[in-house]
Amino acid sequence: MPALAPNAATMKRSGIRQIMDLAWSLPGPIIGMHVGEPSFDAPKHVIEAGRAAWADGYTHYVPNAGLPELRAAIASKVLERNGFEVTPEQVVVSAGGAEALHLAFTLTLTAGCEVLIPDPGWPNFAMAVHLLQATPVGYQLRAEAGFRPRIEDLEALVTPRTRAIVVNTPSNPLGTVLPAADVEALVRFADRHDLWLISDECYDGLTYGAEHVSAARYDVAGRVLSSFSFSKTYAMTGSRVGYLVVPPPVSADAAKLQEPMIACVNAPAQRAALAALTGPQDEAAQMLATYRTRRDLAVAQLQQAGRPYLEPEGAFYLWIDVRDRAQGDVGAWGLRFLKEQGVAVAPGTVFGDGGEGWIRVSLATDTEHLLEGLARIERSS
Ligand code: PLP
Repeated sequence: MPALAPNAATMKRSGIRQIMDLAWSLPGPIIGMHVGEPSFDAPKHVIEAGRAAWADGYTHYVPNAGLPELRAAIASKVLERNGFEVTPEQVVVSAGGAEALHLAFTLTLTAGCEVLIPDPGWPNFAMAVHLLQATPVGYQLRAEAGFRPRIEDLEALVTPRTRAIVVNTPSNPLGTVLPAADVEALVRFADRHDLWLISDECYDGLTYGAEHVSAARYDVAGRVLSSFSFSKTYAMTGSRVGYLVVPPPVSADAAKLQEPMIACVNAPAQRAALAALTGPQDEAAQMLATYRTRRDLAVAQLQQAGRPYLEPEGAFYLWIDVRDRAQGDVGAWGLRFLKEQGVAVAPGTVFGDGGEGWIRVSLATDTEHLLEGLARIERSS
């Protein structure tokens, strides 16, 4: 048999898989707090719009960059909620945020170049960069700096091969929301080194008081590509709809690349996404309120137990310090915790070396299980 493409064969599996495989293999019921999957269904009018679209004949190819009415609605949303002005031509509808990011990387990376990615950060950044024969280089988000990027750390990582930086706010796994000054400083850093800035804003609709700030607001040079998703805000993970917003000179190429990648996004799912944006927002608001209540209850319980944590200001994750339990190997502790206490969490090292000693717990877990799972940390060995 001929050899596989080297980077396909060597791409590392996401570290969360070990926990998932063990969780599935255990006989008893477990408390699953390890995945970022909303515990809700999509709003009713969204499901209805998808159903109607099938009946109305949305069973054919549609334009590569998406349905014109959806691109127009997204452009309005970006102005209203993200604070920057774009034309519908700058919007490319994608198969979830995952494909929006893949499109952004495909547009900008060359084999052998380096991409700065957050550590801790979503593992798929490194996987996608590696697939394109580029090298992911982690920039540390340190506890002592409030898990915010430090420009001096970034400066030290730049080489002649550095081509792009990935910024993710609100952050998975940290739940941090970068303040405007940090976002602006990151864009200026990209300006200084003439880098692409790929801004993953997949959790832009999930913040708890903190203002989400889009990097594109500070873009004067046309270097920011912004990736968004319907998955989390509207609990539409299985619908696979997201979008990439690009500077005007990039829009024709961005739309063109969809042809060999996916041709177009599933048309009924695009109609459902249109309903999500233009229809009532009360169900989405209710989900957000539930995550917030869970966050407050979880944080109060952790405080009472004297367990250190990072207070999430966005996304639906809680980043918890278990250094006293993990003894330098949080991956092994996570597996032991699951076997002994029946609770699945994501060990911090799944998100990079900088996650050693920490775990990520999903607030998408129902409240009763969430609080019980957290209580078991204190009972663990
Ligand atoms: N970006 C981050 C940080 C994520 O956590 C996720 C999903 O978990 C995504 C992007 C992509 O989500 P989707 O492809 O479902 O839109």
